[in-house]
Amino acid sequence: MSNLSIPYLIKKYIFNIPTKNTKLKLKSDFLPLEFKKANSVDYAKNYAWENFGIKNFSANKLADLNTINQICTKIFNITEGEVQFPPTVILKKQKNHGRTVGTYSDNSIELIEDNKFISTLIHEIAHYNHELFSKNYIKMGKISEIKEDMLYPDYSIFEKFSKHSDQKLIRSHLGGYATSSPCEFIAEMFMNIVNEKKLPRQLFELYKEFEGPFYEKFLKHYTSNNLFI
Ligand SMILES: [Zn+2]
Repeated sequence: MSNLSIPYLIKKYIFNIPTKNTKLKLKSDFLPLEFKKANSVDYAKNYAWENFGIKNFSANKLADLNTINQICTKIFNITEGEVQFPPTVILKKQKNHGRTVGTYSDNSIELIEDNKFISTLIHEIAHYNHELFSKNYIKMGKISEIKEDMLYPDYSIFEKFSKHSDQKLIRSHLGGYATSSPCEFIAEMFMNIVNEKKLPRQLFELYKEFEGPFYEKFLKHYTSNNLFI
């Protein structure tokens, strides 16, 4: 959230120029993508480039490249091809700084190898798409992030979220971190949806209210697979 560059913000919020290429697809266009494990690094990288537009894709192990491609395929299929990926996805051995397990910026997602890097990856993909598809994304961070990112900080959405009557429900199904800001709620919700955790329908209403990406597709997926509590 806080790694956005100023020129990017100027482009997006002041001049309102689209900053990423959104592929427009017709509903009838969509065919589910079939994932097959690659047996070489080149094949795995080619798959990520051709299907997801990921140009810089690296990890130390082929198995990890396959795992990332598999989860990206799953998100691609649930969203019927609407999900967008940043051009750079990197899985590293070492932490870069402090306790950060994943970083997200306009053009890249960087992760560290730990036992939950897949959940972190989905969480960061959620931020990427939330930002891309929600015009109010800049107002959905934590107070400190809004302050940093906006010349005239607008806390109205944050306040609406933090006073929301569903805070308890969020905490009990998604954990405490999801209550820290609207954008963390959206990212944690997206991650749990992709992982097909059983969730109450009420949380989907909240997901829609805070402009979570692919609401309709997720609702359809949960309805057809009977995943509501
Ligand atoms: Zn986050």
